[in-house]
Amino acid sequence: MVKLARSKARYPFPMRIVRFSPGGSDPALGLGSDPLFGLINEDNQIAVLVGDPLYAGITPNGKSVSLDQVRLLAPVLPRSKVVCIGKNYADHAKEMGGDVPAEPIIFLKPNTSVVGPGDTIAWPAMSDRVDHEAELAIVIGRICKDVPKERFNDVIFGYTLANDVTARDLQKKDGQWTRAKGFDTFCPLGPWIDTDFVPGDQAITATLNGEIKQSAQLSDMIFDIPTIINFVSQVMTLLPGDVILTGTPAGIGPMPERSVITVAIEGLGELTNKVSVHG
Ligand code: ZN
Repeated sequence: MVKLARSKARYPFPMRIVRFSPGGSDPALGLGSDPLFGLINEDNQIAVLVGDPLYAGITPNGKSVSLDQVRLLAPVLPRSKVVCIGKNYADHAKEMGGDVPAEPIIFLKPNTSVVGPGDTIAWPAMSDRVDHEAELAIVIGRICKDVPKERFNDVIFGYTLANDVTARDLQKKDGQWTRAKGFDTFCPLGPWIDTDFVPGDQAITATLNGEIKQSAQLSDMIFDIPTIINFVSQVMTLLPGDVILTGTPAGIGPMPERSVITVAIEGLGELTNKVSVHG
């Protein structure tokens, strides 16, 4: 994948945007209990924003709160859809017993599957095997259709991390993936949206209970980000807040009960979730 400069048309400076519940923060701040957006800085202070940056622009309200005083939520709640790319790393296509696809394979996860960092992945009673899939996630910033490859950056708001949690037994049983990938809590996103991240040869990993299970580079993707945006937007109109998961490398596997799974991308962040007991 070619490293391409990000368009700075939308915001002139790099930002990491979090969505958080101010629950335990200092009551004197008057932040209430509703979820808020904020900009996080290197000192782990969150500058509180008015409104939703995806739909209303960036307006700091002058207040700030420490990261360790709040609970982070999924940085985006897609109003419309989560689009996923299947078999986008050659070694993963091979481990799934298939050839490298000639064009992107796309499927959807419902927006109700989205949860945030630290949230519990609920093991459904219907399944006996729940797998991790570490993925880079694109957050769409504007309404678009038929986006030319060279304009892909114009429609991207930023990037975050995702775990495309999959009930592997149901995926095989059903022959299509809606149930296997659509359960509530099966799409952890976070911990923030980075508006300045440039996908290149960064490492992507999944670590299960301290053991690295998936390890690759984003540049190992078969279809790069411009191709994905171009392809998906020829099929469906993309809306602000839509999320595209870009596929997972080899090393997928089951997450045991009560395990801790961390998806990490070099320079972007880490997303950690726990798995419940079998439902
Ligand atoms: Zn996936």
